[in-house]
Amino acid sequence: MVTVYYEERPETPTIELFQNSLLSSLNTCTPGGSGLEGNNYLPELRKDPIVGRWVIISTDRAKRPTDFTRDEVKMKGGFCPFCYGNEGKTPPEIQAYRPNQNGGPPAQRDTPGWSVRVVPNKFPALGIEGNLNRQAEGMFDKMNGIGAHEVIIETNDHNATLATLPPKKIEDLLWAFRDRILDLKKDKRFKYILIFKNHGEAAGASLEHAHSQLIALPIVPIYVAEEIEGAKQYYIYKERCVFCDIVQQETEAGIRVVAENDDFLTIAPYAPRFPFETWILPKEHESAFENSSSHMFENLAKAIHVLLNKANQVLDSPPYNLVIHSSPTQESSNEHYHWHIEVMPKLTKTAGFEWGTGFYINPTPPEEAAKFLRAATVEEAVVTG
Ligand SMILES: [Zn+2]
Ligand SMILES: [Zn+2]
Ligand SMILES: [Zn+2]
Repeated sequence: MVTVYYEERPETPTIELFQNSLLSSLNTCTPGGSGLEGNNYLPELRKDPIVGRWVIISTDRAKRPTDFTRDEVKMKGGFCPFCYGNEGKTPPEIQAYRPNQNGGPPAQRDTPGWSVRVVPNKFPALGIEGNLNRQAEGMFDKMNGIGAHEVIIETNDHNATLATLPPKKIEDLLWAFRDRILDLKKDKRFKYILIFKNHGEAAGASLEHAHSQLIALPIVPIYVAEEIEGAKQYYIYKERCVFCDIVQQETEAGIRVVAENDDFLTIAPYAPRFPFETWILPKEHESAFENSSSHMFENLAKAIHVLLNKANQVLDSPPYNLVIHSSPTQESSNEHYHWHIEVMPKLTKTAGFEWGTGFYINPTPPEEAAKFLRAATVEEAVVTG
């Protein structure tokens, strides 16, 4: 049951109140006309061209950055297993970049001296040993929870964040992602490798030291499968990649562009689920992250640096989730799917309506989000250290 609010809109409405008012407008407005309250606006339903998901976008009473309850990510300190000297507190490292300083002998494993370090997750969601043992249980299907769950520690500096790292360091991190993907791709039990990042407690990070995670899965996860299927259908129909078309159209339109460089376009997508959701897309067609050239990693590092610093300025260092969507491991070169990064600042809560429908209510139109992010100026990165 949707509560209908007739009061005047408060200065800074809670998201629930705001969503209710959006819903009440949906219920009371007649198509093309004005609502019972005399409002002459209608929220907009927009369809994502890849997966066909509809979202509700507020086009009139748009929430501006200052309308969101601030949940700034702050460092608390305390014991940290990801800091120098505590290497023994994590499972033994899988891989680490250790700059060979002054030409001396390389440092020992599981000791300080690294710049990026990859370790197994201490509390993995899936286990690495064993076989899948696919089985039926009557009409149901099951298999063993086989997978890899790794943590990529992005820096040895406890107080750094991905946004404050110089692009050169972000580039090293991207190479570490690539190394891990190429290694895990050899394991034929895995169908998909997802790299993601939770930044801030509100976005699910349990440790504050900057880190990303990698999960190798024996199946292609449903959100990615939906994107791949949607992109495939589009390709069958038009013989073009839907993401390449998005890149072209958004570049021409400009209104949802947040930033761009030689290799990457950053946009607020046409039908975003969340306020200030942004995507980073390679400008040229490339189906898998790990196939990218070194030139692309250099520019991707810059694109990530610019986007995160813009978001920090506009939204006061918000918690966020970042995911890399790439092709399945055994189909990493194809014409229809185009890898990309999705960044979702955590500004609203997903509630009953979203869980019950798969619809999302987004109180900030992407054109507004892009305008704010575009206007935020980020110093051309000073590359040091
Ligand atoms: Zn630390
Ligand atoms: Zn493409
Ligand atoms: Zn995606």
